[in-house]
Amino acid sequence: MSFVCPQCLETGSLEITQAIQLPEDECSGDLMLQVIECTQCHFTGLAVYAEERHSALDTIDWKHIGYRVAAADLAAVRHLIRNCPDPLNPHCTCASHAHLVRLDASGCWQGLVEFEVEGDFAMRMIA
Ligand SMILES: [Zn+2]
Ligand SMILES: [Zn+2]
Repeated sequence: MSFVCPQCLETGSLEITQAIQLPEDECSGDLMLQVIECTQCHFTGLAVYAEERHSALDTIDWKHIGYRVAAADLAAVRHLIRNCPDPLNPHCTCASHAHLVRLDASGCWQGLVEFEVEGDFAMRMIA
């Protein structure tokens, strides 16, 4: 699975190199935090894949957003994912999961609030 790089726009050069699954919250079904890297220009960033529940319509929507973040924040996330013994288990109780799962008052994941986000972009997949 490859994506369009927001920096060099080279088709399909953006890859997901690390991922950690987070538990469902009040707003999302599947929730995954990903580290993305371009094989052409070496752009690196984070991406969040989230399923949104629309119980009224009984449908599930999803969104996949990429984020440009400060190098120190990216390094911190890579470190957290690397230290998790079971990254694809949303109910893992390790310190990395505990650190990344922060919910707001309405029970929704706070996303990247603690990180320095410099911009975001849509993750466009190349079939
Ligand atoms: Zn690139
Ligand atoms: Zn974990």
